[in-house]
Amino acid sequence: MKIGIPRALLYFYYGPFWESFFKRLGLNVVISDSTNKAIINRGIKVAVPEICVPIKILAGHYLTLAQQNVDYIFVPRMVSIRKRQFFCPKFMGLPDMVKHSLNFKEKILTCDVVSDNSNISNYRNYLPLAEKLGKTKKDIKIAAQEAEKDWLQFRKFTQLGYPAPKAYELMVKGLNPVKINPKPGQIRIGLLGYVYNMYDPYISLGIFDILQENNVHVTTFDMFSENELRNVTGNMSKVLFWTFSNYLLEAGLHLFNSDQVDGIIHLTAFGCGPDSFLGKLFELESEKKGIPFMTVRVDEHTGENHLVTRVEAFTDMLKRSKAV
Ligand code: SF4
Repeated sequence: MKIGIPRALLYFYYGPFWESFFKRLGLNVVISDSTNKAIINRGIKVAVPEICVPIKILAGHYLTLAQQNVDYIFVPRMVSIRKRQFFCPKFMGLPDMVKHSLNFKEKILTCDVVSDNSNISNYRNYLPLAEKLGKTKKDIKIAAQEAEKDWLQFRKFTQLGYPAPKAYELMVKGLNPVKINPKPGQIRIGLLGYVYNMYDPYISLGIFDILQENNVHVTTFDMFSENELRNVTGNMSKVLFWTFSNYLLEAGLHLFNSDQVDGIIHLTAFGCGPDSFLGKLFELESEKKGIPFMTVRVDEHTGENHLVTRVEAFTDMLKRSKAV
């Protein structure tokens, strides 16, 4: 049996767990290719124009996998990974959106994912898949336990400062890398964005490479542990409703209030509701702390040259102010 996993949305955070889980169940796993023009065009054709770019991209990946002879495509309903907080509604409604707006609805493989922390490996989440996959409760439990080890390894590597795709590569190769620290004199930038914006090369337009070519040390929210993030807003009377938005808020507040960065870039996708709140909060914090801040908003039409020019100008400004 072949299971397709779209290389979109939380694939860039939970993909190592899901891939390992299905493989350990003895199934063939097909991950869709990196987002390209054909994939996004497929998504744009079927999605409502106002929806955020990452969801259009997910639709494109789903349709691409459906044409690749897979038996099922995994589209979980991400509900909650923190007490009294939830995922953005687009995640919670995703299986329904796919079922009602895309063809190939018979291929959807879904289950609700609920946890009280970011580790979503509790096998009970995946028991609803057992019947379709022809597996027993015990099979699901063992596969989830083994896959958890892979995911924890992957997360350990991201917390050492490796961007998710590199951390995944290190995990697969079974390497034991050292922590990445800023080199003397290097500009340090906090890049605040959802994993599917930062690590999808089509949306991010290779922002990591551009920053690295400009000799920048980059810190992202997933380079912090969950506890480090949670501590930032632990005493706040009110936070945002959406967990991943809170992760970004927490990473942002931490970076604005520490001496770890020279500037901060908020990478956001056109059509994102939660980011309209976040962006304002970052702007206010930037004014308060005097740390330079820039918003980069991307959509399916954004050109690479535009991004390179803005990132280089921001980096040059930071270099000059550091030299003064
Ligand atoms: S958080 Fe924003 S970008 Fe992510 S799915 Fe929700 S609306 Fe889209």
